[in-house]
Amino acid sequence: MDAQKTYTADELIELEETYGAHNYAPLDVVCTRGEGVWLYDVEGNRYLDCLSAYSAVNQGHRHPRIIEALVEQAGRLTLTSRAFRNDQLPLFYKKVAELTGMEMVLPMNTGAEAVETSLKVARKWGYKVKGIPDNQAEILTVSGNFHGRTISIISFSDEPQYRDGFGPFTPGFKVLPYGDADAVEAAITPNTAAISVEPIQGEAGVVVPPEGYLRRIRELCDEHNVLFIADEIQTGLGRTGRMFACEHEDVQPDMYVLGKALGGGVYPVSAVAASGEILGVLNPGDHGSTFGGNPLGAAVAAASLDVLVEENLVENAHEMGQYLRDHLAEINSPHIDHIRGKGLMIGIVLKPEAGGARWFAKQMAKRGVLCKDTHRDVLRLAPPLVITKDELDFALPIIRDVLMSDPH
Ligand SMILES: *Cc1c(COP(=O)(O)O)cnc(C)c1O
Repeated sequence: MDAQKTYTADELIELEETYGAHNYAPLDVVCTRGEGVWLYDVEGNRYLDCLSAYSAVNQGHRHPRIIEALVEQAGRLTLTSRAFRNDQLPLFYKKVAELTGMEMVLPMNTGAEAVETSLKVARKWGYKVKGIPDNQAEILTVSGNFHGRTISIISFSDEPQYRDGFGPFTPGFKVLPYGDADAVEAAITPNTAAISVEPIQGEAGVVVPPEGYLRRIRELCDEHNVLFIADEIQTGLGRTGRMFACEHEDVQPDMYVLGKALGGGVYPVSAVAASGEILGVLNPGDHGSTFGGNPLGAAVAAASLDVLVEENLVENAHEMGQYLRDHLAEINSPHIDHIRGKGLMIGIVLKPEAGGARWFAKQMAKRGVLCKDTHRDVLRLAPPLVITKDELDFALPIIRDVLMSDPH
């Protein structure tokens, strides 16, 4: 293909639809550049990014310190595999351990791989430490969960579309209602190894469980020797106005599952962090990944965490989240049912009569604000955590106007 040719948005969309598998239905905005909270399309239009790649871009697009770490590391060493050691991984381990208050860390690349890791570790802990009979371990999960797209993970999804056509499924999981601690208590048996939850459900449409739910899970896990796995791939690293969403209830899980913003929107990096007793069940050869823990990812992740901490992005998420939610609450639109979320993880729940959130997301895109409809009736707002009041003041009138207008 001619490298000099510049493609129009329509040509690029046509190519994508022709050659790409149709497993997504993106808005027709063809981005070519990003900086901070802003995205630019191939026609030169500017958009405020209110999705942040599902919270993978918490630090903003191409944060200079993260890009510097990427370029610097790319100029020295990118991949050794874990057959050899590298000089970046130990520093990454220490940072993640200190940030999570955990003793040990296991690196992967994507969120789904880190979730798979947490499930494998929980099962192995169940057999080797708790003493569950072979092949009897159960892991509790909750309805509305989203933990990724592998066959084992969709085995406990209750979203029909995620499962349709992909069976047979992996056994060993029980799905309980989300937010119901009594259901957890009733479901625990001597064979229960773990319960895995998102502290706030992202893909389900920013679903916040009742206050005290996470604390009660912690207590039940302590009482019954069950591991509490917190999937903070989306809620973690500042998104909800705390470093981890579990902190809203002063709860420390047994395992943190991290991803998305761990790679600063630059490079896929994920991890599981836990105690030595838990991650210590793994011996050389039990589990691994060719790219997991590579020096390029480790350097990018270390810089991404430094940016979060040193630029006070958690506090900013708390303050800007409050500001955004206060102003959204003033919008007197007939289409809004209610608004929920914490920090800069916000769901605007529309009434069913509004005809779905997709139309509103499209109108906002036309006016320069990119957000995502999810589960038909929820508009999700999750801008990068570097966002300022001025930038929110750009978005708010557009959000208000679109929400006040009538879909057709
Ligand atoms: C995005 C997400 C995942 C999956 O991460 P991938 O990198 O897409 O595999 C898992 N859990 C939660 C809560 C997520 O939001």
